[in-house]
Amino acid sequence: MAAGVLTLALCSSLVSSWQSSRQIRATLLGQGEGLAASLAASSDFALIYAAPENAGEAIASMFSFPDVIAVELRDAQGRLIASRGPPLPGTPEKIPTASRPGLELETAHSWQFVAPVWAARAAASPFEATEHSAQVLGYVRILQSKDTLARMQHSVFLVNMIVSLSFALAFLALVRMLATRLTRPLAELSAAMLRAERGEPDVQARVTGPRDIEAMASAFNHMITVLNEREGELARHRDHLEDLVSARTAELREAKERAEDANRAKTVFLSRMSHELRTPLNAILGYAQVMRMDKQLVARQAAALDIIRNSGDHLLTLIVDILDLSKIEAGRADLYPAAMGMPAFLRGVADIIRIKAEEKKLSFALDAADDLPQAIMADEKRVRQVLLNLLGNAVKFTDAGEVRLVATMLSDESGVVRLRFEVRDTGIGIAADLTEQIFQPFEQAGDNGRRYGGTGLGLAISRQLARMMSGDIAVQSELGQGSVFCFEARFPKCQPAVSSAPMPSPIGYQGRRRQILVVDDVEANRRMLGDLLEALGFEIAEAPDGEQALQAVSRIKPDLVLMDMVMPVMDGTEATHRLREQNQWRNLPVILISANATAADEQSCLSAGANCFMSKPVNRDRLLELIGNCLKLRWRFAEVGSDKAA
Ligand code: ADP
Repeated sequence: MAAGVLTLALCSSLVSSWQSSRQIRATLLGQGEGLAASLAASSDFALIYAAPENAGEAIASMFSFPDVIAVELRDAQGRLIASRGPPLPGTPEKIPTASRPGLELETAHSWQFVAPVWAARAAASPFEATEHSAQVLGYVRILQSKDTLARMQHSVFLVNMIVSLSFALAFLALVRMLATRLTRPLAELSAAMLRAERGEPDVQARVTGPRDIEAMASAFNHMITVLNEREGELARHRDHLEDLVSARTAELREAKERAEDANRAKTVFLSRMSHELRTPLNAILGYAQVMRMDKQLVARQAAALDIIRNSGDHLLTLIVDILDLSKIEAGRADLYPAAMGMPAFLRGVADIIRIKAEEKKLSFALDAADDLPQAIMADEKRVRQVLLNLLGNAVKFTDAGEVRLVATMLSDESGVVRLRFEVRDTGIGIAADLTEQIFQPFEQAGDNGRRYGGTGLGLAISRQLARMMSGDIAVQSELGQGSVFCFEARFPKCQPAVSSAPMPSPIGYQGRRRQILVVDDVEANRRMLGDLLEALGFEIAEAPDGEQALQAVSRIKPDLVLMDMVMPVMDGTEATHRLREQNQWRNLPVILISANATAADEQSCLSAGANCFMSKPVNRDRLLELIGNCLKLRWRFAEVGSDKAA
């Protein structure tokens, strides 16, 4: 805009200067002509009489005009009569043709005017009635400089320029003032918006300026107010939410702690209960083993004792499994794979189930595929647990017909086999809509719980174990037609463990008679161990608790102590510890026996100073192995074939 206005001012001053200088020029030209005419009028005498002095005064008067530079007077023939000033440019001798005064020549710096001098006028007399014809006597020439023109043009241009520039500047100042009045509120508003965008709180724009902009500023302020209110509301919600979340978290934490406490209590309860159950089982299994050694047994009694032993073992497995369930549920169960011979394993499982099946007059069959691997790396106890559970169910829920275990190999890829164990029965079957439900803990199909007993835990445990073995359990069943439970899992193949030929049972030992002190608070257990060991030629002493055991040791000086862990008055660990404090008994062999078969128990036994640890129920062969090692005994064995029961 400024450029436009300034250009306009320049143009207009140029135009008006041009216009003014034209007028000045015209004026000056008129003035020059007038001067020439007036000189011509007063020069006739000088020409008529060829007396230049007659024109002297007139010529001199010409120079009173500022721009006149030179003056010349010539006669009609071009002869110079009089002159003043520098010589005239051009060819002054040339006789001009003009009959009136006028401009003859123009140069950059001057004008040359010429005017004829008429005789008629010169001869005119007031007494002559007729006018004589005019005669040219000569010419005057005046050289006039253009200085005045130039000066005036310059000053006109200057004045014009100054005036129009002043107007232009004033106009621009006005425009700028108006624009500022308009833009300042806009700039303020946009600055306020910028601050709001940067997140400054409570930004307010100044309501000022033209009406539209005022309206905009008020709208903006209103918007900010509304936004602030919303933000406040959100913040309140957020704070509330945080409170809510922390309250919920606290509740959840409390609930979790309660659940963990409950779970701990359950685990403690289960392990205590399994301990309580193991103690009597210890006596049962022990006596079954003691009686089995009796050579006078008839076959039927021997078979019955075997059943007692097997069922006792199974009962023990069940007790252990209860403990396991709590471990599995707490996610604390691990698999301990070891080399497991397939044929012996399957035979062992079949033997247990066959007894159960025969009790219900069911037939039992084992179909083991020929291509099964000889040995796999598996946690034998866990695989047996799953199979016994499925087979146990099959027997339990079948009243007539057959239970069958089919073992096949599905694949054998780079040393890893997928095995499938199918447990088929011809029992009551399961309704289609319950086939998934029965795998949930404590779920039993229909009124089976009432009719067949059970806890509803077996399948839940089995499925979790199968999944730990990268497998699963599925079921196909039809109500009234029987069921097929499929247990699949993956195992690495391995070499069968080199099983040293089973050690024949000893019937005695070589050397002097050894004395063993049996310490247990349960008399039946003491007696069972005593009977077992006396049969092999040991001399047995008994004590019911740790304190009496210490007294007995000092009194009878036994060769070895078999000590129960959990006893009143003084427990086995404490008693062992006290024994070891006396130099005399530092090397007395002590075998600690506990119903709690955990690794922690074993560790606490050994750190108390016991030589070795055994879990209840006592396994005869294992016990004799330990005693043999501790006392460095050389066992005596029966002649081959003379004592099958051993
Ligand atoms: P439990 O046998 O102690 O009840 P399980 O978890 O082993 O617990 O079994 C859950 C339920 O599944 C059983 O109560 C029974 O209703 C059903 N079930 C399991 N195996 C069979 C089977 N072979 N035939 C029919 N029903 C079965």
